[in-house]
Amino acid sequence: MSTRTNWGGNLRYAATRLVEPVSVAQLQELLPTLGPARALGSRHSFSRVADTPGVQVSTASLPRSASVDRDRGVLRVEGGARYSDLVPELDRTGTALANLASLPHITVAGAVATGTHGSGDALGSLATQVTALEIVGWDGELRRLGAGHPDLPGAVVSLGRLGVATALELAVEPTYEVTQTVVEQVPLDAVLDDLDAVTSLGHSVSLFTTWADPDVLDQVWVKRRTDRPAGPDPATALGGRPADGPRHPIPGVDPAPATQQGGVPGPWWSRLPHFRADHVPSAGREIQSEWLLPRPHAVAALEAVRGLADRLAPLLQVCEIRTVAADDLWLSGASGTDVVGLHLTWHLDPEGVAAVLPALEARLAPFAARPHWGKVHREEALDAAALYPRWADWQDLLRRWGG
Ligand SMILES: Cc1cc2nc3c(=O)[nH]c(=O)nc-3n(C[C@H](O)[C@H](O)[C@H](O)COP(=O)(O)OP(=O)(O)OC[C@H]3O[C@@H](n4cnc5c(N)ncnc54)[C@H](O)[C@@H]3O)c2cc1C
Repeated sequence: MSTRTNWGGNLRYAATRLVEPVSVAQLQELLPTLGPARALGSRHSFSRVADTPGVQVSTASLPRSASVDRDRGVLRVEGGARYSDLVPELDRTGTALANLASLPHITVAGAVATGTHGSGDALGSLATQVTALEIVGWDGELRRLGAGHPDLPGAVVSLGRLGVATALELAVEPTYEVTQTVVEQVPLDAVLDDLDAVTSLGHSVSLFTTWADPDVLDQVWVKRRTDRPAGPDPATALGGRPADGPRHPIPGVDPAPATQQGGVPGPWWSRLPHFRADHVPSAGREIQSEWLLPRPHAVAALEAVRGLADRLAPLLQVCEIRTVAADDLWLSGASGTDVVGLHLTWHLDPEGVAAVLPALEARLAPFAARPHWGKVHREEALDAAALYPRWADWQDLLRRWGG
């Protein structure tokens, strides 16, 4: 067995070998020779989605350039690029992405392959920014799926099953600034009474709780674009108190890695992630899980989880509740429905987490909750065909691509 682990340290990869091609041409020669294989991005997933009994194909040494075509409104990024690599080119051309995840250190190709998302009622997952995709398939052929290609909605959230993405085009828009405001000690009952009013307080809103007190959210982070109407004062609207200084999402932890708060405007890329690109948010000793809850069921599902608070709290660093807009991508957690993400950052206690998952998943099952592909869930219990209406089309795509 391999000695290599993922970033979080909760899993040791089963892959027998790691290869690290440096060019698309080398990748094309290599893939048909490997047998079972899977792309490996920046190793930030917590599930076995990037693992294989065969060979992992690291993208770490693939080209990672980024270039904006302003006329077409797209940013072309290469397969090895991380979100933090894109910022100089976007700044240089006065352009921006619609949203980012909490961490800028992840690769673009790896993020979209699992349906990674940020928060925002009107904002789709990062995969929805993809307008074209270039993939080297397992047969070594380089395929380009442009806008309108019938396979594109199936191939963006690919779980790494179709080959190795070597370039992606992402939709861009004119640059904008964002403020970030933190409110503490927010009563949960009032939030659940009108969740829509809370999640629409900003362009992107995140609710944090440790579940130590099941009646109170420790923090609510409200991110607002300065080019949109400001809306009500967040602390007043939430019935909480404004934070009196910078905060980390986990109460009591040093806020140095967190992006700037306090309502000070700054470039979109410096406020939308929770963590700064020039800091590592932690040493990577953690486990994450997340379920995407169809929005009509979200409040009932959150109430059901609240009933487990005493079992969750001892295992948790923090829980984040956020929103993602519906899309038409076959394997997206938001496929066909707006969703509320219930994210859990656990302590690095694999046995403790494994012990609570059956109860947690049983509470969520009546609400058609979809697990995040890149985070820990009971993979053996997943009824994907029931949760994803396009599952049969995905199986057909896999067959056609030899995945
Ligand atoms: C601290 C932290 C914060 C996080 N925050 C968020 C968040 O805010 N929102 C969220 O939704 N998720 C979040 N995640 C989860 C993370 O975004 C996903 O697991 C993401 O897929 C990781 O990307 P990666 O580049 O590390 O890819 P890996 O974990 O290495 O791989 C993930 C998948 O992508 C595939 N893949 C990688 N590269 C390619 C390629 N070039 N072509 C084809 N397939 C490829 C792999 O085969 C695998 O299936 C977070 C994770 C961490 C550790």
